[in-house]
Amino acid sequence: MTKHVVTRFPPSPTGNLHIGGARTALFNWLLARSQGGKFILRIEDTDVERSTWEMTEGILESMRWLGMDWDEGPYFQSQRLDVYNEHIERLLASGKAYYCQCSADEVEAMREEARAKGLKPKYNGRCRELGLGPGPGRVVRLKAPLDGETGFEDLVRGYNRVDNRELDDFVLRRADGMPTYNLAVVVDDALMGMTHILRGDDHMSNTPKQVLLYQALGFDLPSFGHVPMILGPDKKKLSKRHGAMSVLEYRDRGYLPQAVLNTLVRLGWSHGDQELFEPEELISLFSLHNLGKSACVFNPEKLDWVNSQHIKNSPPADLVPLLAEQLQRKELPVPDAAYLEQVIPLLQPRAATMADMADQAAVFVLSDEDIAYDPDLVGKVLTAEVRPHLQALIERLQGLASFDQSALEESIRAYLEETGIKFKLLAQPIRVAVTGKKASPGLFETMEVLGKAHVLRRMERALQV
Ligand code: GLU
Repeated sequence: MTKHVVTRFPPSPTGNLHIGGARTALFNWLLARSQGGKFILRIEDTDVERSTWEMTEGILESMRWLGMDWDEGPYFQSQRLDVYNEHIERLLASGKAYYCQCSADEVEAMREEARAKGLKPKYNGRCRELGLGPGPGRVVRLKAPLDGETGFEDLVRGYNRVDNRELDDFVLRRADGMPTYNLAVVVDDALMGMTHILRGDDHMSNTPKQVLLYQALGFDLPSFGHVPMILGPDKKKLSKRHGAMSVLEYRDRGYLPQAVLNTLVRLGWSHGDQELFEPEELISLFSLHNLGKSACVFNPEKLDWVNSQHIKNSPPADLVPLLAEQLQRKELPVPDAAYLEQVIPLLQPRAATMADMADQAAVFVLSDEDIAYDPDLVGKVLTAEVRPHLQALIERLQGLASFDQSALEESIRAYLEETGIKFKLLAQPIRVAVTGKKASPGLFETMEVLGKAHVLRRMERALQV
């Protein structure tokens, strides 16, 4: 019988959730969801000084926003110290771990000595055979094998091995009584039944140590997969400089969660040359075989493009709350949902983000009195030749019973025929009068959505500039 897949996301709440962490979460979530398995959230908050509740909340909010739901947790490592201690005691009792009284300075001196000899810097095992008991300032170290090698099969990178002489008796419990990352992560991953551990390859050097711990504790090894680091467009380590922000900043700037997921998944996973994916589709397509080995480049422009495509493909009703929120952020009026649902289809083809859409929606939500006319633009477009025509049109349109696109088109066409002028002469003046801008969505669609009263009021105002 194949084992039920169990994966996890174990962030440390010492910072916001960024692109890298969110991608790791996504791969683990997709693996669990695609296999009908379980996805566990665990907060690794043993670094008490640097962990904050605010960061934990931000991480949970980011996960919820991205739609990465979890089946268990969040567990908090800070509440599981007894569990770690129980396993540390077990290792001590079986002689697989020992107390060490060397001070941090002494250990640093040992490392320096090794470096001077051209060797890998490490603890030299001074307390290994001293049989020390507990005492103030003492740490617990693993009694690691002195020779042989430690290997594991990596799902992404193939077989990996290290010479055990490269490893040292690393610390399991610090002098302050807190377990180290390697100890806590192994105990938790084993007890919580993880079958697969996907994470960034910055953890590659921890994995052999963890393998030694699984062996010492008598736990079965999970499968490990290390995905390549995410780089910026200049192929250097990803940073703010490359426009990489926290997940919640993307939300606040009007990116859709499905677009962020879509962009994240392409950082290390592919399905032919398909670029656009809906979350449901990802769940059905995801497989470990398509995880790539080569470095992944995060390109903010690509995210903008992916976002614009997801905006285009969304039902307008789904975008209503997002647009409302962005309008509010920009301190623009927020009209009712039914009106926004009419405005959105006009802007969907042209918005990279929902913030961008809110900017473009301004002409639809501002009151007629708040539409600003640039006197230069009005002077240039509403010429003396054009003004009488606009005046005449106002009267015509006034008489329209229906103000939909076709009625508008028909009425204006009739006017052009009667006067013998070309639409080109009037199109831009009407646009500027109705929106205050040189560019807008289709003129008749815009007028229909705005409605008769507003269109006419704006045309009158423009003629007064
Ligand atoms: N808390 C660790 C981190 O955020 C977890 C690493 C792991 O996946 O084992 O880097």
